[in-house]
Amino acid sequence: MIKAKKSLGQNFLIDDNILKKIIEIIDIKDKTILEVGPGTGNLTSFILKKNPKKIFVVEKDDRLVSSLQKKFQNQIEIINDDILNINEKEFSKDRMIVYGNLPYNVSTEILCKWIINLNNNNFWFQNLILMFQKEVAERIIANVNTSNYGRLAILAKWKLDIKKICDIKPSSFSPKPKIHSSLLFFSPKTKFFKINDPRNIELITRLFFNHRRKMIKKPFNQLFKGNMEIQKKLKLNLNLRPQNLDFSTYYNLAKEYEDLRG
Ligand code: SAM
Repeated sequence: MIKAKKSLGQNFLIDDNILKKIIEIIDIKDKTILEVGPGTGNLTSFILKKNPKKIFVVEKDDRLVSSLQKKFQNQIEIINDDILNINEKEFSKDRMIVYGNLPYNVSTEILCKWIINLNNNNFWFQNLILMFQKEVAERIIANVNTSNYGRLAILAKWKLDIKKICDIKPSSFSPKPKIHSSLLFFSPKTKFFKINDPRNIELITRLFFNHRRKMIKKPFNQLFKGNMEIQKKLKLNLNLRPQNLDFSTYYNLAKEYEDLRG
């Protein structure tokens, strides 16, 4: 048996009820699938039973890649690499369905990379079905005026509709992690605020939420050099705290910042 590597976030899903639930979320017959971090291939086996057109899996651990090759042979295409170094758009012309019980240490980095690299309406995926540490999932789905609201929700909800499917307890994994997990389902939005460079959303939210309990006056002045035209245009109350500004205010701020810099 392969010993799980903590450094690669290896907690394998062993609960058949959860595996069934994941695979029943949408119909994947004849769809092209990308699975991130298949591990020992538990979810991969369930995906295969649903007769997809093609399955790509990206796995970083060489030991697991050898066992996946033996187990699945030519039923799946294995890419032995780090998902963070890969251009997923090159896999297929089809819009893929992406599954991932993501390694917790890089899960937000993976999601942010995917959102930041999306060009306009040109989505390379049809849906993302991803598992996160419960606390991280709560930050992704958070709403304005809550303590979890911040950079992740503002970035993720810019282009994606997000639905929580369920929470998953530690005993569904081996080795058993100390944390609980949540499964999220993402679909691309057909309409979203136009921002040319999504890194501007990241920059603004990082600056604003850096001091989450302080008024937004300071980061606003830092970014816009006290430009009161922008404050008036966006009807911004500079005495508010970062968590009180709604999603569209952040997108508007990113747009104003972009326009100002030409
Ligand atoms: N999907 C499997 C399951 O549910 O049983 C395994 C999930 S485990 C939480 C995360 C998997 O992602 C491991 O197989 C690990 O080796 C792999 N992994 C970790 N970091 C990765 C990376 N940067 N790129 C690709 N795979 C990675």
